[in-house]
Amino acid sequence: MADCIFCKIANKEIPAQILYEDDKTMVFKDLEPKAPIHYLIIPKQHFDNVTNVPAGNDIISHIFTVAIKMAVKEGVSDEGFRIVNNTGALGGQSVNHLHFHFLAGRQMKWPPG
Ligand code: 5GP
Ligand code: ZN
Repeated sequence: MADCIFCKIANKEIPAQILYEDDKTMVFKDLEPKAPIHYLIIPKQHFDNVTNVPAGNDIISHIFTVAIKMAVKEGVSDEGFRIVNNTGALGGQSVNHLHFHFLAGRQMKWPPG
């Protein structure tokens, strides 16, 4: 999608610190990390947010499979981590290309702000 920053990262039109990619997803470091490990997991295909993923599309489960892969790769699968998805204005979404935050390396708080 034109003028979508994450589409541009997925197409390698603008740089990012890419940690993993496959045919459907990409993982890169968040520009403003909120934890020692803060990655963004995105589908390469543009969806504005989770509400736009058609029923039957397996991208969300694939993203979680990738997240677990990252947890194992970073050695945090036992100590724990957090996966976050912000959806829409009240959900705090600032980039309108579906993404999941993968956060690890510190004690997470609850409830979130
Ligand atoms: P949201 O607020 O939509 O849930 O998360 C968007 C995230 O994208 C934020 O944590 C922000 O720091 C990150 N972000 C925004 N623009 C860029 C960018 O150009 N490159 C990278 N690597 N991260 C970005
Ligand atoms: Zn996009």
